[in-house]
Amino acid sequence: MKIYDNEPLAPHTTMAIGGKAKKYVEAESVQDLIDALALAHGESMPIFILGAGSNTLIHDNGFEGYVIHPAFKQVEWTPQTDGTMLVRIDAGANFDDVVAESCQRNLGGIESLSGIPGSAGGSLVQNIGAYGQEISECFVSAQAVHLDDLSMIELHPHNMAFAYRQTALKVADNPFIVTSITLRLSPFDADAAASRCEKHGFKRMALTKPKTASDFRKIVLETRKSKAMCYDKNDYNTHGVGSFFVNPIVSGVDAQRLNAASIIKNHKPMPSFPTEDGKTKLSAAWLIEQAGYNKGYCFKGASLSEYHCLAIVNRQNATCEEIIDFAKDIAKRVYLQFRIQLHPEVVYLTPQGIEPIPGISPEEAEVTGAPLRPNPLFL
Ligand SMILES: Cc1cc2nc3c(=O)[nH]c(=O)nc-3n(C[C@H](O)[C@H](O)[C@H](O)COP(=O)(O)OP(=O)(O)OC[C@H]3O[C@@H](n4cnc5c(N)ncnc54)[C@H](O)[C@@H]3O)c2cc1C
Repeated sequence: MKIYDNEPLAPHTTMAIGGKAKKYVEAESVQDLIDALALAHGESMPIFILGAGSNTLIHDNGFEGYVIHPAFKQVEWTPQTDGTMLVRIDAGANFDDVVAESCQRNLGGIESLSGIPGSAGGSLVQNIGAYGQEISECFVSAQAVHLDDLSMIELHPHNMAFAYRQTALKVADNPFIVTSITLRLSPFDADAAASRCEKHGFKRMALTKPKTASDFRKIVLETRKSKAMCYDKNDYNTHGVGSFFVNPIVSGVDAQRLNAASIIKNHKPMPSFPTEDGKTKLSAAWLIEQAGYNKGYCFKGASLSEYHCLAIVNRQNATCEEIIDFAKDIAKRVYLQFRIQLHPEVVYLTPQGIEPIPGISPEEAEVTGAPLRPNPLFL
């Protein structure tokens, strides 16, 4: 186990923002992780688990405790007699390396998740998703350490409360630290994959009908790169957390109201997707654009990506405060235009621990929103 004092956290995140951690531990094994948790407990210090930092925004004053980084990365592939494959992935493994290998093996289940940065542990906690697939769909179990007594426990789907970019572990007082995850993958089904992508608006995939999982991955990566949605340390358009806000899910009535207004204003319908429980998922990127922000819109050191309105990025030495002010500005305008509340997808780490991003609420928008002119069409 390696322990560093006053370690700057910015280089450990894709946003490259944030102050120092009082202690930073690289846990090279599960035992290291348990030892680090015991150390923090002994010193009555809070802990935060940092995977690849691709969905974490860190406060300018850092974190007054132990940041523990799982650095164990083994992956085991076990073929099953029914033709499926179980893959057990250590929490610190780069999840996209596993996706790449699963595609080489022509397996299906996580091929649409190609190119999403992050550790296996973080990817499970976030229930990552893209192009019609979520990691929850092939999740079998996870090994985890229980913070109360540092015992090992196995988590199953019914423990996870999976929802859109949400799990039982994505809460401030989550007592489980994931040490490995197990997924079940099946032989790649080209037709199912193509129709899933068509359903989720990924037309190129449906048109070209890739025959193997590797071909499929190539097209996903190409598409993601064209939107700067693959992390690249030389391109600030990728120095964010992917989607900063989740796509709002609203009632049918709200969706119809916005759709009708969009047809009057733009002469075309608003992008929307039905959910399984009869609601409608809206495009946060579309709402942001309609509220007056174009791609590349700058706000101090922050900006929107030049390729995607939903990605807030660190354009030029942005501070965490600037990112938050920008996010508040966006949420406020969207609320005033549409009466739709945007919710951050990113995890916000303050010196005391995980907290909601302050000031992103309808009440705040109403109070501070006086200078903005709501568009009456959308109200
Ligand atoms: C360019 C870019 C594109 C992206 N595109 C997508 C996309 O298409 N779809 C999508 O869903 N996401 C996307 N993301 C977001 C991000 O990649 C995922 O959420 C990612 O899987 C997070 O993993 P991580 O290891 O980086 O998590 P971190 O940011 O390190 O951590 C996130 C949260 O998980 C917790 N955590 C991490 N590891 C563990 C563990 N072992 N045990 C318990 N808790 C843990 C942390 O404490 C924190 O609360 C994108 C991000 C970027 C930068």
